[in-house]
Amino acid sequence: MTHFPPPVEIPPTAGLPAQWRDLLALSGNLAAGLARYLAIPPPALTCSGTAALIVALRVLQQRLPGRTTLIVPAYTCPLVALAVHFCPPLRVVPCDLAPGGIDLDAGQLASLCDEHTLAVLVTHLAGRVADVDSALAITAKAGAAIIEDAAQGMGALDDGRSVGLKGDIGFFSMALGKGLTTAEGGVLFSSDPELNQALHRQCRQDLKFSLSWELRRTVELWGYTAFYRPRGLYYVYGKPLRRALSRGDLVAAVGDDFEIKNIPLHSLGHYRRRVAAGALARLPGFLQQGCERALLRVALLRQVTGISVVTDSPGKQGTWPFILLLMPDNKTRDAAMDSLWTSGLGVTRLFIHTLAGYPAVTPFLQPGSPFPNAQALATRGLSISNSPWLSDRMFATILARLQAALG
Ligand SMILES: *Cc1c(COP(=O)(O)O)cnc(C)c1O
Repeated sequence: MTHFPPPVEIPPTAGLPAQWRDLLALSGNLAAGLARYLAIPPPALTCSGTAALIVALRVLQQRLPGRTTLIVPAYTCPLVALAVHFCPPLRVVPCDLAPGGIDLDAGQLASLCDEHTLAVLVTHLAGRVADVDSALAITAKAGAAIIEDAAQGMGALDDGRSVGLKGDIGFFSMALGKGLTTAEGGVLFSSDPELNQALHRQCRQDLKFSLSWELRRTVELWGYTAFYRPRGLYYVYGKPLRRALSRGDLVAAVGDDFEIKNIPLHSLGHYRRRVAAGALARLPGFLQQGCERALLRVALLRQVTGISVVTDSPGKQGTWPFILLLMPDNKTRDAAMDSLWTSGLGVTRLFIHTLAGYPAVTPFLQPGSPFPNAQALATRGLSISNSPWLSDRMFATILARLQAALG
C-alpha cells in the first residue's frame, strides 16, 4: 500500500537534521571542531563507535597484558559485546544496573571486578550521565581501566566537563540518529596525553581506507540528508518498522539485529568528516533546545503516577536524544506500546533484550550474576523521541495514551 503524501513519522531519536549545503563541504576540520566545542583532547576519528571501542580495547590489552574480561552493563547496545570478537581472548561479563537508572550497580561491580578485568565500560545510556566516580573507586583497587561509552551522549556534561574525560578513555558515536552524524563514525579520546597518542597510533594502524565502505557510507549520508524529515522517514523508518512488527520481529524493529560481519574496520573518510564539521556548527544550539524541551516534558511525565523517568543526578547535565522511562510492569508497558509503536509519534523501545538475549552475543558472554534491574529496562522500559518535530500536541497524545495504558 502506498500513501501519498506519506504520513508523518517522527524519528525515534533527536538526530541533528541535515542541510543540503552540508553536502557541499569543501573545508572544515571535524576533529579540531569537536575538540574545541567539547573541550576534549584532539580525538581520533573512527568508522564507528564500535570501532572506537575495539581500538580502545586493543590499546588497553597492550598496556595491561593478561587481563581477559570486559565488564559491561547488562542492558546496553549489543555491538559493545560483539566488539570483543576483535580482541581475543577478551570476554564480556555483564553487570547489573542500579534500580531505576543507568548507573552500574556498585555492589555487583565490586564483586565482579578483579585481577582478570581489563576494563569496565561505564555507559551514558540515553544521554544520561552515569556515575563514573563510584566505578573509578572500584577499578582503582583492581587495577582495571574505565572506558566511558558516550555513544548516545555527545555534549553531555559531568561536573561541568564533557563526559569521557573522567575515565581512562571515552568515545562517542556518529551513527545515524545519534545527534551529529557521518552515517557511521566514532570519536575516540583520552584525557591522558600519552594514552591519547596511543589511541591515534592504533587507529592509523588498524583503520585503513576502504573505497567500497567509504562510497557506501557516503551514499547513506546523502540518503540521510534526503529522507531525514517527517514525511521522508515514513519510507526509510516507518515502513520497515511496521513490517518487522507485523511479523513479530521486535529485534529487527528496533535495529538490534547486529552481526559480527556487519562491523567493518576502516578509516573515516575526509569528505564525510567535512560534512559533519559543517553540521557541527548547529549542534550546540540544537542540543540546548533539546534539553529545554525534554526537561519540560520530563516534568509532565513525572506528574503521572506509575511512570518513572530516568533523569540525571545533581552535577550532571546529560543530553536528550530521547526520554527513557519505566512503566510499572510489563503489562502496562506492552499496552502502551500497542497503542504507540506504530503511531508515528517516535515512541519505541531501546534495546529489546539484556545482552544475554541476543544469540550473536552469547558466545562472548561469561556468566556473571543475575541482573534484575537491567532486565527491568527490557521488560518495563520505553523511549519517547526528543526530536524537534515532535510537537507539543503530539506529545500530549503520547501522554494521554500512556495514561490510558496505566488504566
Ligand atoms: C550506538 C551505540 C554504540 C555503537 O556505536 P556505533 O557507532 O553504532 O558503532 C555503542 N554503545 C551504545 C550505548 C550505543 O548506543
